[in-house]
Amino acid sequence: MEHPLILQLDVSGIPLRWIDFEKAAYYYVKDLVAWELAEKFTIYGGTSRLTGEQSYLDISTIIATKGKTKEHDLFNETIPLTRYALFKRDQNICAYCGERFTFSSLTRDHVVPLSQGGKTAWTNLVTACKQCNAKKGNKTPEQAGMELIYVPYAPCRYEWLLLQNRRILADQMEYLKKGIKNKHSRALLS
Ligand SMILES: [Zn+2]
Repeated sequence: MEHPLILQLDVSGIPLRWIDFEKAAYYYVKDLVAWELAEKFTIYGGTSRLTGEQSYLDISTIIATKGKTKEHDLFNETIPLTRYALFKRDQNICAYCGERFTFSSLTRDHVVPLSQGGKTAWTNLVTACKQCNAKKGNKTPEQAGMELIYVPYAPCRYEWLLLQNRRILADQMEYLKKGIKNKHSRALLS
């Protein structure tokens, strides 16, 4: 079985990033894990020629690592806007007709079109099906006589990490959801 990604936190519990188990193993071996939170799983290494025993390491799926985080880096970081994360924020639901579509049938729609000064930003982008996007064209929802069924928002760091990983474990999901302060976040609905 494939190893899950590990959620790395800083010492104060702020989520930093997803790391693979090799990186996590490095933090354990270097004694850089300050505390851990979730259930552990075991990874096995090579067999010792001297003792014949196989080496292993227990790794938690949420680890807080030692060392200072530069707050500046953390809070001024722009959350990268990818199609995957946008569709996932909107739960694959078209903002105009409210239907759920598969990834390949979806488009990203600028609520205020670029041609009218709209920006490519989390707060101006929604998920739309191809049909609704074509119908709306280069118009605002008002001009097109279409109504937005949800309001776009920029995900916070916790939600952003939720949106990035396709195989999140229950403990990790719970930890990240607890940190979301935006009551309108759709991550809290599912
Ligand atoms: Zn639609």
